[in-house]
Amino acid sequence: MSEQQGRGGMPLHWKMAIGFVVGTLAGLACNFWFAQSDWLQTLITYVADPIGQLFLRLLFMLVIPLIFSALVLGVVEIGNPKSLGRIGIKTLLWIMLVTTIAVMIGLVVVNLLQPGIGLPEEQRALLISQAMEHGGAIAEKGRNAPSGIDILLNIVPKNPVAAAASGDLIAVMFFALMFGIAATVLRTHGTHHFVEFCEGVYDICLRLIEWVIRLAPYAVAALLFSITARLGFDVLIQLARFVGTVLLALGLHFFVVFPLLLWLVGRMSPLKFWRGAEPAILTSFSTSSSSATLPTSLMVAEERLGVPRQVARFVCTLGATANMNGTALFEGITVLFLAQFYGVELALGQQLMVLLLCVMGGIGAAGVPGGSLPVIAMILVMFGIPPEGIGLILGVDRLLDMCRTTVNVTGDLVGAVVVGRGEPAHIGDDVDDLGPVEG
Ligand code: ASP
Repeated sequence: MSEQQGRGGMPLHWKMAIGFVVGTLAGLACNFWFAQSDWLQTLITYVADPIGQLFLRLLFMLVIPLIFSALVLGVVEIGNPKSLGRIGIKTLLWIMLVTTIAVMIGLVVVNLLQPGIGLPEEQRALLISQAMEHGGAIAEKGRNAPSGIDILLNIVPKNPVAAAASGDLIAVMFFALMFGIAATVLRTHGTHHFVEFCEGVYDICLRLIEWVIRLAPYAVAALLFSITARLGFDVLIQLARFVGTVLLALGLHFFVVFPLLLWLVGRMSPLKFWRGAEPAILTSFSTSSSSATLPTSLMVAEERLGVPRQVARFVCTLGATANMNGTALFEGITVLFLAQFYGVELALGQQLMVLLLCVMGGIGAAGVPGGSLPVIAMILVMFGIPPEGIGLILGVDRLLDMCRTTVNVTGDLVGAVVVGRGEPAHIGDDVDDLGPVEG
């Protein structure tokens, strides 16, 4: 997606920042002067809340088709048996390993710093009760969350349609993975059409996300207004701590994990890598979109980092949608931050589940600005955390998005260097060719 512009020509991130400031200041002013008045409650209930809800619902609407199509396409690309079986497996292992490391860094940092804790108890209770007005079902879900062996069993859906309807994300992901594997193995005209269909669904979802994200400035203003009008200033301190936590964890992954991996596994000097990768780093930082950065990262991997052409194409293309270290790390921190904020206790088993969901969520999120927001909203619901919390982080999301997208794209390039090491310059068949069609 190209750089998003608001209708008046102003870049979207400025509109979001304005929405954030206007919503926050208006909310704080109302909280200060009119906290007890009836008209403020009416304004919150009938104007601000519905606008925020509308935005969240639009995001939720896209989750299932997006995750299903992205995962099927990811598996189909990895599974090309003609020449990329080995590279596919190396890439898959790389994605799983490094994304897991990223999420673990995020979870450790957020558990150590506890940025979401500290809101006075009565304010938190107020927030939760108000969030529950929008869905008692959310709280119910948290109470009925499965534990122990059931968590594992529930990964396999009895009924994929019911899993999708009830927002059981991980079961839908499992179903999509199985579908992708079977579509890769079976090479018929029908499966080719199915894969094309998934490409269409994916492209449509990206376009819809682009449209929905245009509403974000208004949603940010409305959501921030509701929260600060109810809670006042304390909530902002909490937010600053959240930003600090995310930047610290992203920094650890970017400046410690990547250089170590480059040096130990890729056998490339990190300095040489940074110099070569610079155009892609700058593009990802300014666009907040892995997909928009793809042409630049392909050029960088091939021409400046010397990765064999087909490895570069394969790893970078797949990576733009499926290898999102920064996004997965961010998802983990955000879910735990909001759990702390709303006082939802997550036991170790549940945190492991968050880890798994975030690794998969890094694969399932779209490489566009704000692409991870639908996935986060869905994970929140799964753990009984009010998804309205997304409104809190939206206002600062552009900055965090720029940073996590940079980590995402850099992770693709590090992956291309590592997977490409030892591969011949010409691997043989074209990756676009999915092999002969049977029947
Ligand atoms: N903007 C990110 C990317 O394109 C996705 C996200 O985390 O929202 O990589």
